[in-house]
Amino acid sequence: MRNTKTIIIGAGLAGLGCAKTLSDSGHDFIMISKNVGGRVKMSESRIVNYGAVWFFSHYKHIKRIIKLGPRIRRRGATFFKNGFQVNLFKVVLNNPIASIKMLYFCVYFYVKLHGLLRKSEKLSQKLIIESDPYFKKLYYLSGNEFIKKNQLESIAILINNVLWGVFGTKIEEQNAFLVLLASTTLTSSLYEFKIDFNYLISDFKDCLFLGEVTRINKKSNTFLIHTKNGDNFQAQNVVVATEPSVSQLLLNLKKVNTGRTVYVHHVTGQILDKYHNLPCSFSVGSSLLGILNNTDGSFLIYSTTDKIAWKRYFENYSIVAKIKWEPMLNNIGGELLDNKYGENVWLAGDNNIPGMEYAYTTGICAANQIIDRENNK
Ligand SMILES: Cc1cc2nc3c(=O)[nH]c(=O)nc-3n(C[C@H](O)[C@H](O)[C@H](O)COP(=O)(O)OP(=O)(O)OC[C@H]3O[C@@H](n4cnc5c(N)ncnc54)[C@H](O)[C@@H]3O)c2cc1C
Repeated sequence: MRNTKTIIIGAGLAGLGCAKTLSDSGHDFIMISKNVGGRVKMSESRIVNYGAVWFFSHYKHIKRIIKLGPRIRRRGATFFKNGFQVNLFKVVLNNPIASIKMLYFCVYFYVKLHGLLRKSEKLSQKLIIESDPYFKKLYYLSGNEFIKKNQLESIAILINNVLWGVFGTKIEEQNAFLVLLASTTLTSSLYEFKIDFNYLISDFKDCLFLGEVTRINKKSNTFLIHTKNGDNFQAQNVVVATEPSVSQLLLNLKKVNTGRTVYVHHVTGQILDKYHNLPCSFSVGSSLLGILNNTDGSFLIYSTTDKIAWKRYFENYSIVAKIKWEPMLNNIGGELLDNKYGENVWLAGDNNIPGMEYAYTTGICAANQIIDRENNK
């Protein structure tokens, strides 16, 4: 049985944010995970991302751990409607009043988001959202009510396609907070990126154990962590940084958010002329979330099924890889999860807000709270 002060379960960005912060402060910990990176996963060529694909310009911590790639072009972005493609920005131009209103909401939200991210290095996202009347109202307002209340019906099709393409959800399933979060795709600059996980974990790779945690037991002030292959660990603090469905089992949580299963096909070949040279196309109402033209000339096809009508999009094609994300994001449910579940148990991850930076800061937050606690003992 290995003994340590803190155990981090899960080495996605949330777990890694926690590990990096604890490692930088010289805190003793062990990290157990099925893999490193979680929903950030690169192709073998290390050019294309199969999980998180865009770096948003407001990501501060993630910026320190990535290598920035080319900027994503959005001007030609389209969505499919009745078999035709409609340019996203044409909807904007045709509906100037609703678009200006939405732009104002997005910019205000974006400014507030910076504050939320800064505070969430020390405080739980749940506490920040619930103690800020602006965020609280958005989190508990349905997407449909938001559209109706602000008379945004004329651009709802645009918002719905962005939500579908980026988050795999629709306005009617979503709260206003996530509707605005998805809309930052249109207002912030987006980039391709690479993460070198070997470099990121180089300071603490001796603390990393690959394995699957099956159970957490508490015995007086100590946690016993059991893994599938029979290795057991013991610690005073536990940070659970797994996907919500796994955290729910490990911590016996009553309710967590869910999301859609999404298949990502990485494809090379000849796309039909009408889709050629489009940065991305979304398709709400169909099983296709979107088609992404990578800057290396290959394509990513996002779909809720692995049965793709290839001939509808390609002259000829070859599948390089297929990944199933189950679910892609945990953004349906609107359940705000706290970052503490009992004495010395922390929960980290994109449980409340989907995206790399939001996940990473929850790990930093857990680490900072553990460090503060140790320092005050
Ligand atoms: C297709 C796709 C596209 C995306 N696009 C973007 C984007 O463009 N921009 C953006 O910012 N975000 C994007 N995201 C979201 C982003 O990837 C996630 O929000 C973020 O990576 C979540 O990190 P996490 O650490 O919370 O969870 P995860 O990355 O899921 O990490 C969980 C970790 O826990 C481990 N684990 C699970 N169960 C166990 C167990 N029992 N024992 C031990 N370890 C376990 C897993 O192996 C994994 O390493 C996208 C996600 C997907 C899937």
